Amino acid sequence: MTVKNIIAICSMLTLIACACNNKTSTSKPIEAYQKISPDFNGDSAYAYVDKQVAFGPRVPNTQQHVACGDYLVSELKRFGADVQEQKMVVTAYDGTKLNARNIIGSYGLDKAIRVLLFAHWDTRPYSDRDADKANYNKPLLGANDGGSGVGVLLEVARIVQSKAPEVGIDIIFFDAEDYGTPVFKTKADFSDKWWCLGSQYWANNPHVKDYKAKYGILLDMVGGIDAKFYKEAYSKEYAANVVEKVWSTAGKMGYGKYFIGKDGGMITDDHVPVNQIRRIPSIDIIQYDLESDHGFASYWHTQQDDMRNVSKETLTAVGQTVLEVIYNEK
Ligand SMILES: [Zn+2]
Repeated sequence: MTVKNIIAICSMLTLIACACNNKTSTSKPIEAYQKISPDFNGDSAYAYVDKQVAFGPRVPNTQQHVACGDYLVSELKRFGADVQEQKMVVTAYDGTKLNARNIIGSYGLDKAIRVLLFAHWDTRPYSDRDADKANYNKPLLGANDGGSGVGVLLEVARIVQSKAPEVGIDIIFFDAEDYGTPVFKTKADFSDKWWCLGSQYWANNPHVKDYKAKYGILLDMVGGIDAKFYKEAYSKEYAANVVEKVWSTAGKMGYGKYFIGKDGGMITDDHVPVNQIRRIPSIDIIQYDLESDHGFASYWHTQQDDMRNVSKETLTAVGQTVLEVIYNEK
């Protein structure tokens, strides 16, 4: 994903201004609140992230990418999902043809009311934010950027298989999200359209004709240690009620130190085509870091995006919140 620079910088300033007021956010569950969702297992989610990272970088047109894609398909099948693979060739910013596939796992196909949960499973071919320029052209491991969202959703799949929520669930692992124009290029096209290629393709060619969901939740960079999730601007524009539902649920469950009740920047991510093309109101749960100049964690788009930065506690905070939201849905 990438930040929309000007708006993001403005938002970051707002965030910095607001940061000192956040001491009131609670990390204790409201005593009266009884969750109805099954327990999310952070160890299990962590293991799914670790397994993806063990394949190496998952860049389209590589063996590791194919192998990890096969693993994700087999895991969703193991967890009882009805699985579809959407194979496609998409064109990158530099004309490279990418062999990509979106992987879709569905539960409760007979249910009309559906919730869409999604994450990207590819990893970036460039470490273009690395401190060492020699690493710019190296692919990254994407433990947090890619792996974490998929890891949480695999654990959600495992749980949904054992106890079905009242609504139908579709989990989509989108491909080719992170192949956008690297910042070190000169005279290149830096437009948003080179990001989120898999979700753009799906939004125009859904796996089910006229596919609709009540709403969608995107998980991106949801494993960072002490991560903070602010209310992202596209999410508020297209799905303000979903933002409120998710953030208030997190607060009730005692995860207020992760889900901050303040506005974040505007992020080009897979929820944008899902909102703008497919017209499914969708939000992005994505980590911000006020300490860094780009607004994301210091290891974002560097060689340091590895398992050292992944926290079971953060994975659990996000996963349990998502579970509680979908098990409350009717
Ligand atoms: Zn990325």
